[in-house]
Amino acid sequence: MKRLTIDAGHGGEDPGAVSDKLREKDITLKIALYAEEFLRKNFEVLIKMTRSNDVFVSLNERARIANRFKSDLFVSIHVNAATNGTGFESYIYPETKQQTREFQKALHSEITTTINKYRNIKDRGLKTAHYLVLKKTSMPAVLTENLFIDLDGDLLSQESFLKEVGEAHGRGIAEFLQLPKI
Ligand SMILES: [Zn+2]
Repeated sequence: MKRLTIDAGHGGEDPGAVSDKLREKDITLKIALYAEEFLRKNFEVLIKMTRSNDVFVSLNERARIANRFKSDLFVSIHVNAATNGTGFESYIYPETKQQTREFQKALHSEITTTINKYRNIKDRGLKTAHYLVLKKTSMPAVLTENLFIDLDGDLLSQESFLKEVGEAHGRGIAEFLQLPKI
């Protein structure tokens, strides 16, 4: 059976990006748990969560968890912050395998298609960055930045929206890993 690690960004003493009303760590956990629930209900897959509640986990430990679990895939879920920023983008490590690029494409396309049903958002593109969790994980790894905590706060505070985004992550993962349906 295929193995997957889902990484909800931040947690515990590290809130990530914050606005008046929202904290990144709460949003990433909800999206991650919705992705997990969707995959467990619909596909045969073994899933490891780097966190399932509001606790602090270091970046090195997140990568170690995925490596120890011998994951076939690693997905890290985040929310962006920048003054006047908006839209969706995804990241892979620059020096990576073609397989990782293909996974990024599959995931990116599922998520942008889903978000566009709510609002025509800005597609900020498929990007690369030297992020630690992408560098230290030994399997294809993608990090998603799901909108911006300030300008996109109205969408990010809707539970139904977070569920849809979680399920879009699940579909991208299932498609890439070709998971058997239950
Ligand atoms: Zn983050």
